Amino acid sequence: MFEKRDSWLIRINGIVQGVGFRPFVYNLAEKYGLKGFVLNNTEGVTIRVEGKSCSVEAFLQEVRTNPPPLAQISRISNERSEFQDFKEFSVEKSTASDKRTTFIPPDTGVCAECLREFFDDGDRRFHYPFITCTHCGPRFSIIEDIPYDRETTAMKVFPLCDDCQKEYDLPPDRRFHTEPTACGTCGPRLSLLDRDRKLISDDTDNIARQTVEYLKDGKILAIKGVGGFHLAVDATNDEAVDLLRERKRRPFKPFALMSGSLDTIESFLHISPKETEMLLSKERPIVILKETKPLVSRSVAPELTFLGVMLPYTPFQHLLFANDPSLVLVMTSGNISEEPIVCGNDEAFDKLGHIADYFVNFDRDIVAQSDDSVLFAVDEEPYVIRRAKGFVPVPVMSSPTLRHILATGADLKNNFAIAKDNVIIQSQYIGDLESPLTAGVYRSTLEHFEKIFAVKPEIVVSDMHPNYFSSAIAAEYEQMGLKRIRVQHHHAHIASVLEDRQIDEKVIGIAFDGTGYGLDGRIWGGEFLIADRNSFARAAHFSYFPLPGGEKAIKEVWRIGLALLYNTFGKDLYPGNPKRAMIVQLLEKNLNSPLCCSVGRLFDGISAILGVSESVSTEAEAAQKLEELALAGKKELPLSPILPVGDELVIDNSFIVRQVVEWLQKGEEPADIARGFHKLLANTTVNTAEILRNRYQLSRVALSGGVFHNRFLLHLIMKGLAKKNFKILTPRDTPFNDGCMALGQIVVAKAMLASI
Ligand code: ZN
Ligand code: ZN
Ligand code: FE
Repeated sequence: MFEKRDSWLIRINGIVQGVGFRPFVYNLAEKYGLKGFVLNNTEGVTIRVEGKSCSVEAFLQEVRTNPPPLAQISRISNERSEFQDFKEFSVEKSTASDKRTTFIPPDTGVCAECLREFFDDGDRRFHYPFITCTHCGPRFSIIEDIPYDRETTAMKVFPLCDDCQKEYDLPPDRRFHTEPTACGTCGPRLSLLDRDRKLISDDTDNIARQTVEYLKDGKILAIKGVGGFHLAVDATNDEAVDLLRERKRRPFKPFALMSGSLDTIESFLHISPKETEMLLSKERPIVILKETKPLVSRSVAPELTFLGVMLPYTPFQHLLFANDPSLVLVMTSGNISEEPIVCGNDEAFDKLGHIADYFVNFDRDIVAQSDDSVLFAVDEEPYVIRRAKGFVPVPVMSSPTLRHILATGADLKNNFAIAKDNVIIQSQYIGDLESPLTAGVYRSTLEHFEKIFAVKPEIVVSDMHPNYFSSAIAAEYEQMGLKRIRVQHHHAHIASVLEDRQIDEKVIGIAFDGTGYGLDGRIWGGEFLIADRNSFARAAHFSYFPLPGGEKAIKEVWRIGLALLYNTFGKDLYPGNPKRAMIVQLLEKNLNSPLCCSVGRLFDGISAILGVSESVSTEAEAAQKLEELALAGKKELPLSPILPVGDELVIDNSFIVRQVVEWLQKGEEPADIARGFHKLLANTTVNTAEILRNRYQLSRVALSGGVFHNRFLLHLIMKGLAKKNFKILTPRDTPFNDGCMALGQIVVAKAMLASI
């Protein structure tokens, strides 16, 4: 009987190289008895198949619906092609061309199959700490250049042994063309050293055993991971955690934890189904969870009951927990204070030598540094705080651009982004650019991105802030003749949400953050914008208040508290206190007291008025403590509604301050007042959104800004808006905080260019 036969040419774009796509296609073709070939080229993967129509259909269907775990298909096109009567299905040599792919896979945790082999004493990779396959392991962190093959990665100095080569060459094998594949014979090796670089052991089992012993003994270990070194201590050991804080010069900012299993985590933290999913995801992020039992040292997160925790993702980390399943470790980025994460071997001893007692090191370089990513969930919706390992450099699919664009981001929680063709690629979280070392990493990472993504910026976008380091970088490009576009900070915030959620319409954008340079030169951060990608109007904002001493007030938040009180009640509030009198003088004479209207600073001030924070070591500290306090509040204090007034609506902060002081004078509990403050703020926000809905006939609200990392406030505002039937947009793959700046800047610039 004659059977209908088909011949197709299939092109696939997306993250399809270095993720086992070719062996997957090969095995699938075998399964359906198809002939033809598959090859990688600079555009992605190209497949030719011939065979029975129904088999070809089924083949295509499975390519679409069941690709390898790390693959991300952005586009599949197929067309009929001339019948060539292939005799077999083969994997062809890759073709070279000068166009480079914009898809580089991110780093992911070791997969279940590799882990099974890792713990199988009959397997040739038993306890080999660099076991990997086409479905897992390091990628972005070891790629030096493109096209992606072993010679352009940090694996180039480890030639494959015969056994590994065989697997590498065999299309059906799970390690077919797995560039980072290795074994104990040919691959990288671990070593355990003391801080004077004296070798203690180079046997993996010994190292794991010894490491666990040191940790239980209260020692600090520097352990090389995927994107850099971690500093590890036993999280249940107060002295060890305190010592780490002291040596790292980090008094408040919480340390991340690592536990061996969900069971261990569940023994002291609450995990929801969504949070479980996030913990187990291949990106293996840090997930912020609520503490239920005091298992770990208070010093892990002083005064906070939300702790960041992750599951192990490197084989060596798994081995540590196999040695002691009950272990709970602090695993914090290996750096000092706000400096970038350390990833070089020599650098590790230089920089961490006075922090760590011992080093677990290996002889493969980390090409691209990255921290662990941080996520949290509110009402079972996941949100990103820090986008780095596991997520970078997965691109955002966007409208096409003819010219390459670079957005330099903002100076806090910085990353940058590039746009070419129809993608936007964001760099990993780089950090706060105040530190010259971080600025250095910014430059080298930018250079690396320009190389691996073959980008030559033709347009540069920056914040409007005149004194940002990121603005200075943009100015350098401008001097080289590039067109420069400046984007207002909060417009970029809202635009990033529109892009993240692929919405193309005007919205009520609510941007609450700590600092953003406003069009009037003042510090904005309590903004209601009517915005689309292209333009915005400031429709409402919180009222201005002075920051006595400028930058100094951001650390010494009591100054902000005093300024709010001064603004509300006048100067006679603190007679006789010389420190405070000095500030009142600054305020009276209007000296060095820049005006701001940011909700982040309002949180600082209220926190100070309630006596929760006097001064802080990190930006969000006062607000985090106030949130903690609010969650402990039980009593519902009566709220008088606050409505904004004016053409450009202004929410008068003095109503909020008055209300808080009234509660204080009535002798209400600080926790109840903190709770009342959150509710008052949420109500005011929803009220303002309602007025704007009526004024502008818009019912979609987009939320952005670091203030929304306050989960209680986020919950209240989301609930309030939903109750009033607003359509709510929150970012899914982009942080609320300034980690969204670069994306937002690019999006605005693209819209502006398109509208010219
Ligand atoms: Zn694997
Ligand atoms: Zn080998
Ligand atoms: Fe911001």
